[in-house]
Amino acid sequence: MTHKIPLNHPRASSLIIREKLIDGFNRGIVVPQGLIAHGRGEAFDYLLGEKTTKYAYNAEKVAVCILLLSDKSTISINGNTAALGAKDLVKLSYVTKSRIEVNLFHRSVARSNAIARILRKEGSHEVLGVHTKAKSIIYGISSNRKFVDKEGIMDSDTVLVALEDGDRTESLVSMGKKVISVDLNPLSRTAIASNVTIIDNIMRAIPNMIRLSEQLVKKQKSYLQSLIKNFDNKENIRNSLLIIKKGI
Ligand code: ATP
Repeated sequence: MTHKIPLNHPRASSLIIREKLIDGFNRGIVVPQGLIAHGRGEAFDYLLGEKTTKYAYNAEKVAVCILLLSDKSTISINGNTAALGAKDLVKLSYVTKSRIEVNLFHRSVARSNAIARILRKEGSHEVLGVHTKAKSIIYGISSNRKFVDKEGIMDSDTVLVALEDGDRTESLVSMGKKVISVDLNPLSRTAIASNVTIIDNIMRAIPNMIRLSEQLVKKQKSYLQSLIKNFDNKENIRNSLLIIKKGI
């Protein structure tokens, strides 16, 4: 890490996250725009009390149910998510039997490969999205996020995205995929368009989801289906907004 943060500092966890991103930036994984995007998320996290709300936890539970019941699921990884939680994202991919795909807005071969190397180092046997031969296109998107792996996102019924832009979320939903998003901003287009919106910091959401997967994988399929059926994403977003309002 660039600077050592004293653990008794009142804002230690927030400062540690910043240091992880700066470290990722120095290693060529995070782009400057990613640092700015983090700032937007951080502001919402501040208003949410920097903890997982009961509504976020419920969304995490339902998201895990969907991942466990999916035929094919893929976790989409970008620079910020790799810098913040590569190890946990790889673990989540194992416990939910999901594939992992690198997908970048500010795409370059060097950056994609650097992120793939980190994911492999953390134990991922197969990282999709880095082989040009497997490239497939989502039409209607102008950014580089339109390039997806035909064995990964393109072929999946469920996609987990985090720190995502709204265009691609909307396209993935219109393609009939179930989209689970982790986004601290309940008002973003991604949050609104997703089937399940986890309004939580990715640093807390993914470890929670790993623990939930380990518990829920032992449950009956009908139990998981009932949790999904009883979930209302719009209600979940509204409740998170009420927490923010109360916080203010
Ligand atoms: P949209 O296009 O969906 O309206 P946007 O333009 O705000 O959203 P981006 O800037 O592409 O989207 O993505 C960043 C999003 O990620 C922001 O909504 C921000 O709140 C969220 N975010 C940033 N850091 C984190 C984090 N650590 N955990 C969860 N979400 C985060």
